[in-house]
Amino acid sequence: MTLTPEYHNPKQLGIEVAGCELPLLIGLDIDGVLAPLVDHADNARLLDGIADVLTRLLTADHVTVAAVSGRAVSSMRTFGLPAAVRLVGSHGMEQDGRPFEPLNSAERARLDQLIELADAAANTGGDGAWVEHKQASVAVHIREADRALGTAALAALAIAIQGVDGASAKPGSNVLELFTRHASKGSAVERLRNESRARTVMFVGDDLTDEEAFAALNEADISIKVGPAPTIAQFRLATPEHVLEFLSALADCLCEPV
Ligand SMILES: [Mg+2]
Repeated sequence: MTLTPEYHNPKQLGIEVAGCELPLLIGLDIDGVLAPLVDHADNARLLDGIADVLTRLLTADHVTVAAVSGRAVSSMRTFGLPAAVRLVGSHGMEQDGRPFEPLNSAERARLDQLIELADAAANTGGDGAWVEHKQASVAVHIREADRALGTAALAALAIAIQGVDGASAKPGSNVLELFTRHASKGSAVERLRNESRARTVMFVGDDLTDEEAFAALNEADISIKVGPAPTIAQFRLATPEHVLEFLSALADCLCEPV
């Protein structure tokens, strides 16, 4: 199989991106990008050096840094990102400092239905399958479950949710998330672009939901996929370690020497 695009040299890519037009908005997914993927989402930690390089980037003029994750903002806060990093959680439904708009009664009733389906799927998935509850969605994780049982449970769940009016589902790596309210990293990135008045938006992500963010970018922007999965992104880096190397090279170009 050939990769499109191929893996890039992280340092070279950092130097290249530093030549973009400012202001620059740097949008970063967390899991699989700033934090190596682990069996259980609760055990994920930032890669050593990430917090430092983000702190450096935040000292550059006309640079905004935002973390955009499927996680709830409360869960994003546990990573210890620098305080000036904007936090956008739950695929864009939650923004740090801005209250979540409470579910209306129809959304609440639909979420209850989705929770029932998710619980049933986790049961089918057996040991290691578990359900994560968020304000407007529920996710079934199968990374630690038996592969065949877990995959079958998520496949059945994807079909079952089609019977729930107004609900939607986002597949990720070993997870299926069910939404009672529409959410997309694409609209989150658009909102951040407007708020930061960025002339260039860069987004780095590893998962299927990050493709929505890539799709919201235009020709002057920069999309970077982490890992081997199919993508519409322009550039590709191999691992979170390469993301760190890339961000360090970018900081070397954009920031005053320390
Ligand atoms: Mg991710």
